[in-house]
Amino acid sequence: MNNLNKLKKQDSQIYKAAVGELKRQEEGIEMVASENYVSEAVLEALGTVLTNKYSEGYPGRRYYAGQEFTDAVENLAIERAKKLFGAEHVNVQPISGAPANLAAFVSVLKPGDKVLGMDLSHGGHLTHGHPAVFASKIYKFIPYKTEKDGSIDYDKLEKLAIKEKPRMVLAGFSAYSRQLDYKRISEIAKKVGAVSMMDMAHIAGLVAGKAIPNPVPYFDIVTTTTHKTLRGPRGGMILCKKEFAAGVDKAVFPGLQGGPHMNNIAAKAVAFGEALKPAFKTYAKQVVKNTQALAKELEKFGFKIIFGKTENHIVLVDVFSSKGVTGKEAETVLDKAGITINKNMIPDDPRGAADPSGIRLGPPAITTRGMKEKEIKIIAKWINEVVENRSNEKVLKNIKKEVTALCKKFPIYGN
Ligand SMILES: *Cc1c(COP(=O)(O)O)cnc(C)c1O
Repeated sequence: MNNLNKLKKQDSQIYKAAVGELKRQEEGIEMVASENYVSEAVLEALGTVLTNKYSEGYPGRRYYAGQEFTDAVENLAIERAKKLFGAEHVNVQPISGAPANLAAFVSVLKPGDKVLGMDLSHGGHLTHGHPAVFASKIYKFIPYKTEKDGSIDYDKLEKLAIKEKPRMVLAGFSAYSRQLDYKRISEIAKKVGAVSMMDMAHIAGLVAGKAIPNPVPYFDIVTTTTHKTLRGPRGGMILCKKEFAAGVDKAVFPGLQGGPHMNNIAAKAVAFGEALKPAFKTYAKQVVKNTQALAKELEKFGFKIIFGKTENHIVLVDVFSSKGVTGKEAETVLDKAGITINKNMIPDDPRGAADPSGIRLGPPAITTRGMKEKEIKIIAKWINEVVENRSNEKVLKNIKKEVTALCKKFPIYGN
């Protein structure tokens, strides 16, 4: 881990929180499907003086002088991302996934335009049309859903697109465990004269590691985060076809953002460099194997797995119907035992978002620290024990001890 000597001397409160968080990460089993651990090289890049520099604009055309090194950094990030995903154009400046999505919308949509997006309770993301999100005040989002068997009925989606004539067909999800038919979705968009967009925020690392198919060749615009399965710093990115490049760049800056976070872009470049190495392919494949093992083990203990199949890094479980525990209760008791997951809605959840029927979990983070199917088996057993003995503090305490002991064998930063 970074040397924090100066921080320790100057600001003991922040130092304590940072060290406490390191300990929490080292000693706990992180099963939130959107989380991961960056390398120490990525952490070092984040801590560089690149944070001091204003670089409004793009490489070779900045608003201020002194861009020799920032241009080099941003160009490297762009080149590596292009290579990683086979993209025609890349913008690495979006601060995070939500701003990347907004910039993508702004680049092609006019106020009032219609967008087809996946329903939140069926696995979609807030930014794909939830009423609480600002974009919902500007654009008209029309949700599409999954079927009872967990699939998407693409004929139905096509009929909806023909009826609604959207300006954009948006694919992508945060809590869906199956592979999308990229080709079909982009064909539907083309047929109705809409822009096709894919938000691969969750699966970008699996795509980069070639463990699942790449959406980039099929869609006009692809957005992503860099901090989930891709294992980079917290951030966003937009990849697009050449004809959308100028619009995307203008929407990010000056449309929505000011100066890019150059230390963060440097860290993105470092992470993309890591993802280009063969070891990352092994990692991505192991994430998928671990996820399949997790779903299988949980199913053995009687947990109800939603969407039928697990083809990525996400497992959505209906704990309420299968174990009589709500998503929120499950989240709380598992956290007490040192296993972090999140409550999540299941399709058309009768319980609502605040205390839903489900939990979402996935192994991207624990796979980074080296855990494989053998550990997944043990963890699934603990999850079941915790849920079944949720009012027994002694059981929770004992499992927490075992969790910490297991984690000690798989250090993240080696201390
Ligand atoms: C995580 C996620 C986002 C938002 O990313 P932030 O970095 O939290 O803003 C957007 N879309 C999808 C599909 C996501 O999973």
